[in-house]
Amino acid sequence: MSQTDYRAAKDELILVGGAGGFIGGALVRHFVDLGYTRIRAVDKKPVEMWYQHLPEAESLCLDLSDEENCIKACKDATEVYNLAADMGGMGFIERFRVECLRSILINTHLIEAANKAGARRYFYASSACAYNTDLQKDPEVRALKESDAYPAMAERGYGWEKLLSEMFCEEYWAERKMMTFIARFHNVYGPWGTWDGGREKAPAALCRKVIEAKDSGKHEIEIWGDGAQTRSFMYIDDCIKGIDMITHCDDLIATPINLGSSELVSINELVSIAEGCGGVTLERSYKLDAPRGVAGRNSDNTMIQDILAWQPDTTLRDGIGKTYPWIEEQYVGRKAGKRVVTDVPL
Ligand code: NAD
Repeated sequence: MSQTDYRAAKDELILVGGAGGFIGGALVRHFVDLGYTRIRAVDKKPVEMWYQHLPEAESLCLDLSDEENCIKACKDATEVYNLAADMGGMGFIERFRVECLRSILINTHLIEAANKAGARRYFYASSACAYNTDLQKDPEVRALKESDAYPAMAERGYGWEKLLSEMFCEEYWAERKMMTFIARFHNVYGPWGTWDGGREKAPAALCRKVIEAKDSGKHEIEIWGDGAQTRSFMYIDDCIKGIDMITHCDDLIATPINLGSSELVSINELVSIAEGCGGVTLERSYKLDAPRGVAGRNSDNTMIQDILAWQPDTTLRDGIGKTYPWIEEQYVGRKAGKRVVTDVPL
């Protein structure tokens, strides 16, 4: 295992971009829990709309696709984490490719500003959508290893933006010697994530649909695609631990690495797990013309195991077991008239 002992001092400034979102919010909490005293949390959403808003962090509402804002955000930062992007589940990224592509502006300006500010480490949140889609046409997919991104045939829009931003990170190291770190996330889920509104991903959407079915008394569930498509899903705590380990490992400088679970399940199996949490069995219908993404996708974790002697290891059953009650609480809260995580302020 080659993880370095390097850590920023507790009073050095850490910047988290996209801190009002799911993973960025959890990362801010992680650094607060570790005792960091100067955390700058930035998102383009007004602070009242952030999923987690922690008083210990300096919270700024800034659009990071703007160069001047990136310069402001990076001032005095030792470490910069870019979790900001316009993104969502398949329903969003298949429909809004322009929005997804425009996230290129965020990384382009943020990495330059981080470099000019003298930041020592820069983390970029890439995605399994950067992988060649030709390798993902079968539900019995071979797990994707890091070299499978090239020859490139990424997911249109979102995936190409990720691939190009990865390249920026690689070249900032090659030409300018800024240490950059790149993780390709595979489907992250958990509490404090998007669960409604159109940007939610399959685990949260299916938990919500089970909750809605129970609540309405109509014991039916609509599934996007034929349910046979396969994926792996990573619990948020594993994602945060992985981001931290990757960003502090010198063997991973400018080297894209998978950060995902290797527990492959079909969407039908995911539905069964969500039904198990709700204690119901529902009548399933399949919406075959809905966005469904590639047929199969899994994470090959050989590299992360070799280098960090670890891989995301929360089982899907355990992770959904923690996520389902959180979404149920949100659902019940909204019905009772409370504003919940994905709502806009009144
Ligand atoms: P999220 O949508 O919850 O959070 C992203 C945040 O970025 C949002 O709060 C949004 O307001 C903010 N943002 C968007 N444009 C911005 C801008 N111009 N300036 C400042 N902030 C801006 O998404 P997430 O799930 O937390 O994803 C975080 C990162 O991880 C993204 O880069 C995403 O592409 C990547 N990723 C996530 C997953 C997943 O399963 N959640 C999978 C692969 C990759």
